[in-house]
Amino acid sequence: MTTKRDYYEILGVNRNSSLDEIKTAYRKLAMKYHPDRNPGDKEAEEKFKELAEAYEVLSDPQKRSQYDRFGHEGVRSTGFYGFGDINDIFSRFSDIFGFGGSIFDEFFGTGSTSRRRRGAGIPGTDLKITVKLTLEEIADGVEKTLKVKKFKTCPTCNGTGAKSSSSYSSCSYCNGTGEIRQVSRSIFGQFINVTECNYCNGEGKIIRDKCNECDGSGRVKSESTIKVNIPAGVVEGNYIPLRGQGNAGIRGGQAGDLLIFIEELEHEYFKREGDDIVYELKLSFPEAVMGTDVIVPTLKGKAKLKIEPGTESGYIYRMRDKGIKHLNGYGRGDQLVKINIHIPKKISSKEKDLLNELNKSENFNPDIKKKNEKKFL
Ligand SMILES: [Zn+2]
Ligand SMILES: [Zn+2]
Repeated sequence: MTTKRDYYEILGVNRNSSLDEIKTAYRKLAMKYHPDRNPGDKEAEEKFKELAEAYEVLSDPQKRSQYDRFGHEGVRSTGFYGFGDINDIFSRFSDIFGFGGSIFDEFFGTGSTSRRRRGAGIPGTDLKITVKLTLEEIADGVEKTLKVKKFKTCPTCNGTGAKSSSSYSSCSYCNGTGEIRQVSRSIFGQFINVTECNYCNGEGKIIRDKCNECDGSGRVKSESTIKVNIPAGVVEGNYIPLRGQGNAGIRGGQAGDLLIFIEELEHEYFKREGDDIVYELKLSFPEAVMGTDVIVPTLKGKAKLKIEPGTESGYIYRMRDKGIKHLNGYGRGDQLVKINIHIPKKISSKEKDLLNELNKSENFNPDIKKKNEKKFL
């Protein structure tokens, strides 16, 4: 058996790092050694497993304290022996990798909005807002400041909806239990059907003196400004969930999520193809034949491109790393310059003469011999 490395060292964190710091460190490294990104690479797979093991231990307070005190031996006493299969890692950390282990899901969350009711109140709804981004912004990621109109927790009553703690009375419909029990009889016997009390929303109490500011709802309308970091490489339809930043719940209910949907603005010059961007360059016929240096726009200003002599229409020049950064990843796409040769619709008689002259040359007219032969037929 090989000696195991120190878990803190593996994740590159120090011994008093917080759980969040450990999680962040793990995500970053796990993405780097993710099998999707390193297909067939055994060494990366081993690293990926080692990272998962370190994270499993350090993210669990009990395992971590055993490890801090007794090292790897201490962890074994908790019944954890490491991961066998890579799929175990995905299912164990589905909150990090998303369903099926996709890198993409990891970043944007699983999109699940199902929430359990927690304690009092009625949960707030999710909010959707759209943010329009230019290709330049998508290429490198951007921080956006957004205005959001939403319900926020009432500051006067702190979300309770009541004037004070003595403003409640017990619900008379359910006698303060929050439940309505109905007994029904059938040939199979007696059933007790328990439902939530509609009158008090299952809370068992009702507010006698309502808060003046929110009229008992526990929330008020607001307009807030939020900052959100949009990562590079997003595509239209992606969304970023901000948990708990949606509408505040009623009377202290859990807040909904704020979902920020990405919309891509059309670009004046470029079309997006994955993380590459495509630019169509029109060349004159003489330029295409003789070659030239041209200035083309890029996402980061102008750049020079050398057109080789004899460039055909449809040919694609690839300007490396001038495209969009890969989502979550390393490296970026390219700028593809697609050549289009301008063919004039109208020409002067002088131009016609010049072209006729050129057309007599074998360089310009590969079929010239054939044509000549035809003439004699
Ligand atoms: Zn209030
Ligand atoms: Zn009730």
